Amino acid sequence: MIPLNPAFARLGDENAFAVLAKAAELQRQGRDIVNLGIGQPDFKTPPHIVEAAVKALRDGEHGYTDATGIAPLRTAVSDDLARRLGVDVSPDLVLITPGGKVAMFMAILMFGVEGTEIVYPDPGFPIYRSMIEFTGATPVPAPMREENGFAFSAEETLNLITPNTRLLIVNSPANPTGGVTPPEAIDRLVAGLADFPDVAILSDEIYGQLTYDGLAHRSLLTYPEIRDRLILLDGWSKTYAMTGWRLGYSVWPRPWREVARKLAVNSYSCVNSAAQFAGIAALKGPQDSVAAMRAEFDGRRRAVVAGLNRLPGVSAVTPRGAFYAFPNIARTGWRAKLLASALLEEAGVATIGGPDFGVHGEGYLRLSYANSLENIERALARMAEFLGRPASVNARG
Ligand code: PLP
Repeated sequence: MIPLNPAFARLGDENAFAVLAKAAELQRQGRDIVNLGIGQPDFKTPPHIVEAAVKALRDGEHGYTDATGIAPLRTAVSDDLARRLGVDVSPDLVLITPGGKVAMFMAILMFGVEGTEIVYPDPGFPIYRSMIEFTGATPVPAPMREENGFAFSAEETLNLITPNTRLLIVNSPANPTGGVTPPEAIDRLVAGLADFPDVAILSDEIYGQLTYDGLAHRSLLTYPEIRDRLILLDGWSKTYAMTGWRLGYSVWPRPWREVARKLAVNSYSCVNSAAQFAGIAALKGPQDSVAAMRAEFDGRRRAVVAGLNRLPGVSAVTPRGAFYAFPNIARTGWRAKLLASALLEEAGVATIGGPDFGVHGEGYLRLSYANSLENIERALARMAEFLGRPASVNARG
């Protein structure tokens, strides 16, 4: 075999896609599977957004665009940030990417060098660790603890920073836990970062508009003292049910945005032009679909948490954001990944084992409640039946 760059042996994966494929395969074989594995809204993209893309194509918007995104879209992002967060962001600092994920890829590439450290949430989105390892930097997991509502602890996170730390990744509301870091903890984290001026910050706020119980999202963009070293990651995927459009955005300090632009030119050139027009319609059009989705998710959140807490050996804290529950399954006696596969194979319920999100995910499962209430109830009934079987029937591993 012709040898590859050895860094590729360190590149990880996102098991949610493997579970999706496995669930689809079982469905093809005629099995009835309830899929609580996948992290995408089950709603359709609102029609006015779809129409804007169709119109763009009909109007002949077929060409390459500016690598950083079309100007009216970057202006729409800037206006949206002013409206939602009260911050002033120049459209020149905005980069439109094919999904928010690309911004994490770029940021981790920019700061990940052998000998440096990157602090990231664990359990957390698996791509953080995967990309850190790919670059050769040392991954430093910041534990997200159940007893802290799966929020960042400012003190614990700051304690992990060393003279070698180059990047801190923050994610709130969080995947896979639904944890939301309270404003006071964010205040303390930002205050503490004053002692570490050489640490860049990547704030993944892709679930920023999905918080519940009247809790307001506190964006790191609202802290002027870190603006010169903050990268904000956001996008349309979750807020407007647009995961397959591949459209996201990020905000960068000016010199880093220029490096990110070059990375874009060296890889994908620009984002699909019609998708960018859809993005303008999403930000400038009516926002009632966002509120409607949030209300729907909220009802399901309550149902899923109540149902999980009735299962034998399972307990779930109430997630305050995103669309995931992260129940503690330690008392069932199962290892989390074995339980996830047994639930899929034997009970027809797709979930994801906590260890797919990091070492601190052992003892937990991730359930996405981006599915109908009816399917959620079916999944919970199947889980109750499965976990209620005598221990001898279940091979717990
Ligand atoms: N960040 C987090 C925490 C996510 O869960 C996801 C998607 O699942 C993303 C970023 C990437 O979203 P996208 O690339 O679709 O914008």
